[in-house]
Amino acid sequence: MKIQWHIAMGSIAASLWYYKTRRHSGLPTFLIANTMIDVDHFPAYAMREGILNPKHFLELGTTGRISSGSKEGLTINQIGHIPRPFHNVAFMLILTVGAMLIRQLRPIAAAVWFHRTCDLIDETVLRNWQNAVQRTADSTRSSQD
Ligand SMILES: [Zn+2]
Repeated sequence: MKIQWHIAMGSIAASLWYYKTRRHSGLPTFLIANTMIDVDHFPAYAMREGILNPKHFLELGTTGRISSGSKEGLTINQIGHIPRPFHNVAFMLILTVGAMLIRQLRPIAAAVWFHRTCDLIDETVLRNWQNAVQRTADSTRSSQD
């Protein structure tokens, strides 16, 4: 899921949480953690693709494509699967156990689970829907040719 969508979804979740509980403690931490989890993409981009410019990393995170420089045109799809340590289930479980013991970790653990849920929805349901729409558009175009 693109960074701006994580910010939007996290803001909606935080707003609903505040509306329901009238408690705001932990919400800034939740919002920051929900967005910053994707920095774990950066080491793989740097090592595999030689992307060292933070602007290019931000472009990949927001548009899925680098728009300038020596890596211009490179897309997230071309890079493919990368290791993402903060998205790892083992990391999430360790963080969850830590959050049971240390209260200050709870908004971070909630953010990691929420972020990963949004990523999974994006990677499965939304991507399949986009592919189905694309296939329909392609078949409509080819039947008109
Ligand atoms: Zn993510």
